[in-house]
Amino acid sequence: MPITKQEIERYREILLDKRESLAGQVENLAKEAASSTEATETSKSPLEDAENAAGAYEQDFAFITMESEEELLRKIEHALRRIQEGTFGQCDECAKDIHPDRLEALPFADLCKKCQELEERGMRRRADSDFEVLDELEEAEKEES
Ligand SMILES: [Zn+2]
Repeated sequence: MPITKQEIERYREILLDKRESLAGQVENLAKEAASSTEATETSKSPLEDAENAAGAYEQDFAFITMESEEELLRKIEHALRRIQEGTFGQCDECAKDIHPDRLEALPFADLCKKCQELEERGMRRRADSDFEVLDELEEAEKEES
């Protein structure tokens, strides 16, 4: 069943909200990362060096977090574009409707569960028959345990 206009509107609100809070977070992280880089560059004494070692770790962490937040932000932008284009709620790969439960959990999902699973396993769907691979893999995993 295709997604209703009201539902799309609700998701649009959720996505816009999320985008706003993420944009703020990314900005703060960028500032944090920039200020800890500054601290590293102006260090002199050995004691400060030790402190900076910890600081550098935090800095890396800030960058890692920033990257995934930016990734999420990109996904949200993509979902908002899909709402405008009228393709929201459809899988990017197989064009089937994404399950409502999945959209509820991940409003920015652009792949259905099966295509996502294929991608996570390093595969790409080329035909519906590719989904059979997943069933076979699941069977194999069941037998192993
Ligand atoms: Zn799909």
